[in-house]
Amino acid sequence: MDKQGLTTAIVHGDRVTGSEHGGVHQPIHTSVQYGFERVEDLIGVFQGTKKGGFNYARQGTPTTAALERKITGLEDGIGTVCFSTGMAAITATFLTLLRAGDHLISSRYVFGNTNSLLGTLRMFGVEVTTVDTCDVDNVKNAIRPNTRMVFVETIANPGTQIPDLQGIGDVCRERGLVYVVDNTITSAALFKPKAVGATLVINSLTKTIAGHGAALGGAVTDTGLFDWSAYPNIADDYRRSAPKEQGLLQIRKKGLRDMGASLSSEQAHSIAMGAETLALRVKQSSDNALALAQFLEGHQAVGKVFYPGLKSHPQYHIAQALFKSASWLLSFELRDAQRMVEVVNALKLPIKATGLADTRTLIIPVAPTIFFEAGPETRKAMGISDGMLRLSAGIEDIDDLIADFSQALQFAG
Ligand SMILES: *Cc1c(COP(=O)(O)O)cnc(C)c1O
Repeated sequence: MDKQGLTTAIVHGDRVTGSEHGGVHQPIHTSVQYGFERVEDLIGVFQGTKKGGFNYARQGTPTTAALERKITGLEDGIGTVCFSTGMAAITATFLTLLRAGDHLISSRYVFGNTNSLLGTLRMFGVEVTTVDTCDVDNVKNAIRPNTRMVFVETIANPGTQIPDLQGIGDVCRERGLVYVVDNTITSAALFKPKAVGATLVINSLTKTIAGHGAALGGAVTDTGLFDWSAYPNIADDYRRSAPKEQGLLQIRKKGLRDMGASLSSEQAHSIAMGAETLALRVKQSSDNALALAQFLEGHQAVGKVFYPGLKSHPQYHIAQALFKSASWLLSFELRDAQRMVEVVNALKLPIKATGLADTRTLIIPVAPTIFFEAGPETRKAMGISDGMLRLSAGIEDIDDLIADFSQALQFAG
């Protein structure tokens, strides 16, 4: 059969790979222990010679494995490891693949908590350089003999900067660097980082993939493009498997074992339910974001609007070339930042809350909340002004959203 579309593949996924009694969903497996009739099978699961077996739920369950297959399918990868949160997935990736003395190049525009994690890595002796990845030359110039990895996000939050994703992919391939792309904002519904040569794709499942704001989860997917046999930090135990599989095997074994941030079956099931409507939700929320961005850009009380679907955006052409749409994430500034509290309080539909990619529209002032701890210098370097508002567009009917913003902006002076 030809390769199926994203939604067809995901809604039929469990039935095709098989589930008890013909259930259309994989059941929620709650067992922590998994027992075997023959001890040889128990030994085989431990040693990896018996594929697809389970021993202890910290290392995965049939329900988390079913979700992993779906994410692997979404990203055209060769395998996925799920974690309890997106941050756990990123932490496991860094801590299992980097060592003290290694060098990591990261985009300067990353999720605030990832930025905090970069500080933690430095405390453990990993050298970290943050650069403006919108220009590939900044990445090239930062490469050192001990550089192992480059980390970027597809669309930065809240500034919506887009790295030179293709250019960085080419550099990583030439230099043998692991290229990690956080696809959380776009998701596979809009973009597959494998297309630009990503080694590993991160998704916070909490966001676009689950979409309902009712479960936390994270995932790392290996695209199969990288030959891990040349990568220095793989333990001997994992060298025995195929060169393409060694990296993810180490992330799975050591990441889940050492850090223990495992996804539960209940949460995996909840995320899998949300994922069935991924493409439908992302279409609606991205259409809403574009309409809101155009409306805000044309409004006299609004200063800058940050949305890659607008021609005024510096990476508009990259978004057009690489992404199906410019996503549900946008930010904007009021001309008079002093009116911010009044305007936000006047909004009736958007929920004043942190979080992203909910079915409901969410709004938050950036500087005094999610980037408060980062301090004024980091905010300045990341292009975050005091009056910036971040909007995560939901799937509401667009007329209702525009009407609500129209009335609230009357308070903008
Ligand atoms: C939210 C987010 C994360 C972290 O995900 P959690 O599931 O909240 O831990 C990582 N990267 C990006 C881009 C995010 O938006």
